[in-house]
Amino acid sequence: MPPRSKLGEIPRQDMPTRSAEERRMDFKEVPLGYTEEQALKEALRCLDCKVPHCMEGCPAKVKIPEFIGLVADGKFLEAAKKIKETNALPAACGRVCPQETQCEERCVVGKKFEPVAIGKLEMFVADYERKNSEHEDLKVEQNGKKVCVIGAGPAGLACAGDLIKLGYDVIVLEALHTIGGVLMYGIPEFRLPKELVAHEVENLKRDGVKFKINEVAGISIDFGELRKEYDAVFLGTGAGLPLFLNVPGEHLCGVYSANEYLTRVNLMGAYKFPEVDTPVIRHKKVAVLGGGNVAMDACRTAVRLGAEKVYIVYRRTEKELPARLEEIHHAMEEGVEFRFLRAPLEVVGDENDNVVAIRTQVMELGEPDEDGRRKPIAVEGKIEDIEVDAVIIAIGTTPNPLIARKVPELKISKKGTYVIDEETGETSMDGVFAGGDAARGAATVILAIGDGKRAAYGIDKYLSAK
Ligand code: FAD
Ligand code: SF4
Repeated sequence: MPPRSKLGEIPRQDMPTRSAEERRMDFKEVPLGYTEEQALKEALRCLDCKVPHCMEGCPAKVKIPEFIGLVADGKFLEAAKKIKETNALPAACGRVCPQETQCEERCVVGKKFEPVAIGKLEMFVADYERKNSEHEDLKVEQNGKKVCVIGAGPAGLACAGDLIKLGYDVIVLEALHTIGGVLMYGIPEFRLPKELVAHEVENLKRDGVKFKINEVAGISIDFGELRKEYDAVFLGTGAGLPLFLNVPGEHLCGVYSANEYLTRVNLMGAYKFPEVDTPVIRHKKVAVLGGGNVAMDACRTAVRLGAEKVYIVYRRTEKELPARLEEIHHAMEEGVEFRFLRAPLEVVGDENDNVVAIRTQVMELGEPDEDGRRKPIAVEGKIEDIEVDAVIIAIGTTPNPLIARKVPELKISKKGTYVIDEETGETSMDGVFAGGDAARGAATVILAIGDGKRAAYGIDKYLSAK
């Protein structure tokens, strides 16, 4: 292994990105990836700490110093294998995980200098592996037991991937016609190219996982029948039910939930615009309500579909924005206008019920609330209209109650999430496990993957004891 650099000797390697002018015009990925030389240099910045605090910040407990050490040695394929021991989807996580509040926040180098770029190294390694190696065929003896995974998002895929390696016969049922959950229909192409997710799905198919699309458990198939047919069931159904503001005018033409807007763009091929035309309506002036990652994805998507003006309407200030810093920065670079300290009051329509403006209440920040965030307070008499022809609501989602409503044995929390055992992921119903957003509420990809893996372990423990 080459000697590690002295602390601060090598600066953090910037990953080149496409210019804002260029990327406003299409949906191609924004970062261009590390070269081998940059990855080697960045890897040398890691101090291989005796107590790797970075790992404490990683929900999947990826062996970070070990994989970075392999990168430093130029053993990129071995590095990919090391990550995959605990994280099934490194190409996605390297791109979308909030590393700045997880592993990189705890990195020792970051105390004095910029932290090691753990996420960017993960992305490099996963991309290298995809381009330079063939998927190894899985050789495992079948144990004769059948498991049904409901929902093909990261939680379901991670669960299916681990179970197939343990010899189970695994089928994944997916309500939509695309496999990958939010990775395919939510997160836009410019942040997570669809071919990367499709590649991982292909590998799962080669391992023997079966998929059935357009199958809505609880509607097209009775849940009770499923439970009888399979030895165990995993619920990875996500949190796809959008929340609304309950303000006047939300029924108008041109009002979307962010989920609906992004799903249309992703599943109706609008991300191929402008090379391929799209039936998705391209609005001229768009207001996105909210300040999280989903809001950033929606506003940057509207920019790419040709909107002349795109606004983020947020009731606090820039400091309180919950989205990842990188995404906020990219949105600003791409020309999105941020209207801080504005709370939506009403969506204003014309005589044909088309959106013409969003009416907002001007706010100021008061004392911190129970989460420690300063509470926005209305400034009396200060109302502002922003002229738009579309409003996208991105204020959060909850799990869909479709299955839970029909199956009283499944215990649900006040938030609508499945109540599960912390060690195994088992729900209150015998042999039924759950994880990901369905059990946590809207969270992150890496937490969903971790939950899927935990449930695979739980299912194996449950079925081995039978
Ligand atoms: P999902 O990915 O939601 O998958 C659930 C799947 O189950 C879906 O495909 C759904 O169609 C299917 N399903 C639901 N009900 C049924 C049924 N009855 N029968 C059959 N199938 C069913 N996280 C990050 O870490 N970083 C980010 O940058 C980030 N950005 C995001 C951007 C957007 C726009 C969104 C919406 C989310 C983002 N997230 C991000 C959150 C992250 O994507 C989710 O936490 C994660 O996808 C949850 O995984 P899951 O497998 O639990 O659920
Ligand atoms: Fe390397 Fe930072 Fe982890 Fe230490 S904390 S092992 S320097 S990545």
